[in-house]
Amino acid sequence: MSEAAEMEWQKRAVCYLETSDAPEMWTSDRRPHGLLRKELQRMCARCPVRARCAGEAVFRDEESGTYAGVYLPQNIAANVGRRAAAMEELRVIAGLPSARDDVVHLGVSA
Ligand code: SF4
Repeated sequence: MSEAAEMEWQKRAVCYLETSDAPEMWTSDRRPHGLLRKELQRMCARCPVRARCAGEAVFRDEESGTYAGVYLPQNIAANVGRRAAAMEELRVIAGLPSARDDVVHLGVSA
């Protein structure tokens, strides 16, 4: 599948259709505050590609930003726990198994 075809789903995204002139709203290194966070969550809640967005964020190990209504903190030591929790939330939205299940499937006990 071509990269253009793989990205076709993004053209149906609420963020693309309604805020493509302000991508920084979605990619901040800092958790959005109050009203902005709630507005981003509302937009994601009505987005038709929310599950795909969450799955892509997990598979691509995305940088910080809001994906599927979940704020994913930067991948730095200070954020290990919060980032892992956000990744788990994204996995649930995407319908993916827990990362903890991956470890169990490998025969490693957590
Ligand atoms: S669910 Fe993902 S693709 Fe849809 S509006 Fe939210 S960030 Fe954008």
